[in-house]
Amino acid sequence: MPRRARRAAAGADQLGTMKRCVTDDCTDRPGVYRMIARDGEVLYVGKSKRVRSRLLSYFRCVFPADKGARILREAHQIEWEYVPSEFAALLRELRLIKTLRPRFNVALKRDARHFAFIKVTAGPASKLLVVRGASDDTAAVYYGPFFGAQQLEEAVRELSDVLGLRDCALTTRMHFADQQELFHLYPRTPGCIRHEIHRCLGPCVGGCSVAEYSERVALARAFLDGTNNGPIEMLRARMLESSERLEFERAGTLRAKVQRLESLRTQFLRFRFAVESLSFLYAVPGHDGDDRVYFIRRGRVRAEHAAPRSAEARAELGAIAEQIFGSVDTCGAQVPTHEIDELLLTTSWFRRFPLELGRTSEPLVRKAPELH
Ligand code: SF4
Repeated sequence: MPRRARRAAAGADQLGTMKRCVTDDCTDRPGVYRMIARDGEVLYVGKSKRVRSRLLSYFRCVFPADKGARILREAHQIEWEYVPSEFAALLRELRLIKTLRPRFNVALKRDARHFAFIKVTAGPASKLLVVRGASDDTAAVYYGPFFGAQQLEEAVRELSDVLGLRDCALTTRMHFADQQELFHLYPRTPGCIRHEIHRCLGPCVGGCSVAEYSERVALARAFLDGTNNGPIEMLRARMLESSERLEFERAGTLRAKVQRLESLRTQFLRFRFAVESLSFLYAVPGHDGDDRVYFIRRGRVRAEHAAPRSAEARAELGAIAEQIFGSVDTCGAQVPTHEIDELLLTTSWFRRFPLELGRTSEPLVRKAPELH
């Protein structure tokens, strides 16, 4: 991507020098900027459709408590680079923030926290958690994003209960049944009553082997991926048994649990559909004719390319599209942690500017087989 960078170095009159450099050198076009401290720390990364106007607005901050004023107080220099469009600026800003982690960039984190995710923790005794935003825990698996953390928590509790997954603190020590050599060290009672009431397999007291527990975790993930309906069927079978034994109260409770899990499944189906529908080529007109094509699959920008202006360039584009869209995506409803922010970015971009969907087109590639 062609980029130009200009630096505003601080002199004796730090603010004045920085402002003069922006006034003299910066142009009003889409761009991304960095506020840099004297020791080289990147304090803040921002973007704008009109980067010159945006940078000059920092020098108009009146109140010392304003975020802009606080950043400028610590800044020693300003760097900026131009990008072809507002979309390119958003993407570049996001990627720079993820790489540089500037301490003043709290706004983006706050955006991600509006959404809830189901996290499947790593390790032999995984548990399901509802979290806001995604952490850097790359070993975990995330499903989402969702609105409505409270509803999600109820559904996740049902799912853990029906599959016998633990919900205790991550620090709770596990003692699987196949850890025979530790048998004499097992605690006599579990850390909570869930094992006694058959809502947890009890990996803390040798209630199951590692394989048995892992099988249930795999079932939970298959359910979340939309490829297995086992948990709902298990609950339905128990509900029928209760009805046959004339235990109508219990049958009613089980019916409510089935409904909560069905609603979770419906949410996932909707989510999968929404994410799948964010798979296309997106042609964005750029500043000074620097038009770009973005290859977006499942809401994540997999590649970008200059808009083709010749048959040769079009063929090159087709080969990239074949590579990106021609393979099967086995992710189901899960989102790799490092891609969550980008998924949120594209989702909110097309929600804010639905007419932009008119610039998208389906890639002409051999169709990958459907996921089951
Ligand atoms: S029974 Fe043991 S493993 Fe299960 S939730 Fe309770 S403390 Fe955790």
